[in-house]
Amino acid sequence: MTLPHTAMTFEAYGRLIALGPPTYRFTDELPERAMLLRHDIDDRPRWIEPMSRIEAEQGKVATYCLQVRTPFYALDDEADRAVAALLDDGHELGLHFDSSRMASDDEVLEGVEREATLLEQRYDTPIRVVSFHMPGVRPVGHLDLGDRVNTYAPRFFTEISYLSDSNQNWRGKDPEHELRTAGRIQFLTHPTLWSGRPLRAILAEQAARLGTTIDELATDDQKAVLAQQDAAAGGA
Ligand SMILES: [Zn+2]
Repeated sequence: MTLPHTAMTFEAYGRLIALGPPTYRFTDELPERAMLLRHDIDDRPRWIEPMSRIEAEQGKVATYCLQVRTPFYALDDEADRAVAALLDDGHELGLHFDSSRMASDDEVLEGVEREATLLEQRYDTPIRVVSFHMPGVRPVGHLDLGDRVNTYAPRFFTEISYLSDSNQNWRGKDPEHELRTAGRIQFLTHPTLWSGRPLRAILAEQAARLGTTIDELATDDQKAVLAQQDAAAGGA
């Protein structure tokens, strides 16, 4: 099911998470009903703050996983302000790591250690949670990160419920139903997708920033969602 993009606002996100179980941190002992809110920051950190605020207003805690190497943003003033805001709201900072081009596990583990340490030094906060960018490209669930938590380990991924808003597409799930009926659930969302804009507008802005076109930039999955949203808009 693809939620109409007009419904994907920060206010709507607030109403959605209010339906779920109480929130916990990835490093907590999880009771029978527990929600882990995770955000992968794949686009500009400026969208972190409105989401962080809405969670904090409800007394909920989330983990924001930031990338160190990405063409879409840099660890600059904008990122620094966003991280300060989320930490101030009581949330946790994690690492979002792109292992998609790495063949060996050792290379991934070394890279995670290097980038997590960089975030720890820059933001003076422990990085205890790691999520992987494009986890379907190479296996990541088996990776043991030592003192850090792998959000794709079976105990957070296959052994509990998992709900994701990737590319404004819920993969046939009804998010309200999933959250209402959840026992333990990990809920992954991307702040940018809740800015009230359709995916095409988000991709157009990204493409303009990178000096490319939507056609060059979009993944096959994004192109499939664009076609769905265009058809829905045309049929309305
Ligand atoms: Zn990602």
